[in-house]
Amino acid sequence: MLVAPNVKAMLFTDWDGTVTIQDSNDYMTDNIGFGEERRKELNRLVLEDKMTFRDSFTEMLKSVKKPFPECIEYLKAHVELDPGFADFYKWSVEAGLPVIIVSSGMKPIIHALLTKLVGQHAADSIEIVANDVDVHPDGSWDIVYRDESGFGHDKSRCIKPFAELPDESRPMLFYAGDGVSDLSAAKETDLLFAKVGRDLITYCEREGIPYHVFHSYKDIHEKIKAIVEGKETIAGAIENKDKASALASHH
Ligand SMILES: [Mg+2]
Repeated sequence: MLVAPNVKAMLFTDWDGTVTIQDSNDYMTDNIGFGEERRKELNRLVLEDKMTFRDSFTEMLKSVKKPFPECIEYLKAHVELDPGFADFYKWSVEAGLPVIIVSSGMKPIIHALLTKLVGQHAADSIEIVANDVDVHPDGSWDIVYRDESGFGHDKSRCIKPFAELPDESRPMLFYAGDGVSDLSAAKETDLLFAKVGRDLITYCEREGIPYHVFHSYKDIHEKIKAIVEGKETIAGAIENKDKASALASHH
């Protein structure tokens, strides 16, 4: 991962349900796989530590039988972009703030959607760190996980090299996410943006992980801009400060 020296801040972002409105993997599972009820049951088991994200996700995707190229077309027809992302991305390029997509989804799907929803510049410029896919000659497919972890893609691994930089060269690190696929990254950055009403908030509340709630990328845009320009602080942006510090001192 190449990042220019003297970068002041970086944003790592989940893709599905964070940059997009619909989670593409949930959307396929719910509509052309085994359905929402079973999917939510598996999400619950992951949140309760009774199943790994990797095993639950494999089961969900196995229930989707559509050939891979058709899955991409299906998602291009149904998945929408967060209403604030395009403006945020434009600002991030002007401000020299790198945006890196860290996803448990599959790279070819993200790349196709990014091209369609944000444009060729974004698709050529934004680094995508994600799982991959093995498409067989008949169009059937299997997800190929990025690592051996129970997450399939342990998102903390691409953040840590930046988090561990010496203070004088370490950028401010932000993360934005919404769900169970973000549990592996939730504690790694200086400020976590968690989407309102989603599983990641449930997890942060329970574990006492500090976060700032967002409704759309407009909120993330405003907050990061204010912090980078020195008008607000990271500490001031944390919503569950009392609970987070109480739980932290308890451990
Ligand atoms: Mg997500």
